[in-house]
Amino acid sequence: MTAQVIDGKAVARQVREDVAKGVEQLVAGGGTAPGLATVLIGDDPASEVYVRNKRRSCVAAGMQDLHRHLPGDVGQAEAAALIDELAADPAVSGILLQLPTPAHLDSESLLARIPAEKDVDGLTTANAGLLAQGRSGLRPCTPSGVMALLDQYDVPLQGVEAVVVGRSVLVGKPMAQLLLERHATVTICHSRTRDLAEVCRRADVLVVAAGIPGLVGPDAVKPGATVIDVGIHRGEEGLHGDVDTAAVAEVAGLVTPVPGGVGPMTIAMLLANTLIAAKAQQGRSD
Ligand code: ADP
Repeated sequence: MTAQVIDGKAVARQVREDVAKGVEQLVAGGGTAPGLATVLIGDDPASEVYVRNKRRSCVAAGMQDLHRHLPGDVGQAEAAALIDELAADPAVSGILLQLPTPAHLDSESLLARIPAEKDVDGLTTANAGLLAQGRSGLRPCTPSGVMALLDQYDVPLQGVEAVVVGRSVLVGKPMAQLLLERHATVTICHSRTRDLAEVCRRADVLVVAAGIPGLVGPDAVKPGATVIDVGIHRGEEGLHGDVDTAAVAEVAGLVTPVPGGVGPMTIAMLLANTLIAAKAQQGRSD
């Protein structure tokens, strides 16, 4: 069997077009275009690339790019003051603190200053708590991107066995909660899981976010399963994920490629979150 390959680029494009339409409607209805404040501290080249992509996508969707850059040696108090300023600014719908911040800064206490309603990365304790309690709030972008892919490809979730590999705050934990919200039977695996392949083989939907190249091979996949690879690693032959995709595609029913699977969805969901945040702040939630 050869699996169908999920086209994350196409789904992400659709989400971005929908967001752009939503922005147009908001403005046409007398609202203000959403503003995204990306905050970059220091000059890490990878972070610069990520932030540049986010800013471009934000402008392409008709939003205001309210980017701020602080030098790498900025003090904690000054960084905190910038977050507070953005928190108080009505033009700022969403605040994205690009991680990792330089080692001398306490990024958790900076994140904690972002008001939940402007936390478009869905990373604050408040939003994590809302998700854990099944209440509405801004959801982390990568796991909500995975949900959008599953929905776009009509993958059934109710009652199915879903296995999430990885328990990070950014991906694994919220991923499991989003799947649970949709009535999947969810198992979370991690580095101490006794027999990873055996647990993964139960999965109708397998989401892998462990940050270990090639961790999941065909022996860990149930025939016909949906396999979503959240990992991104830069190797000699370009980008690859946590899943041995070529071999797994012989067993699975549906797989994400790397690149071009989950990756493009993350920025698309960031834009979607920024629009949701702006509408809520302007009293236009639908
Ligand atoms: P991400 O940002 O993709 O969520 P992190 O590197 O923050 O990734 O976290 C890696 C996660 O993967 C951790 O939660 C850890 O529990 C899980 N993990 C690490 N090693 C293994 C392993 N061998 N098998 C399964 N899960 C693992």
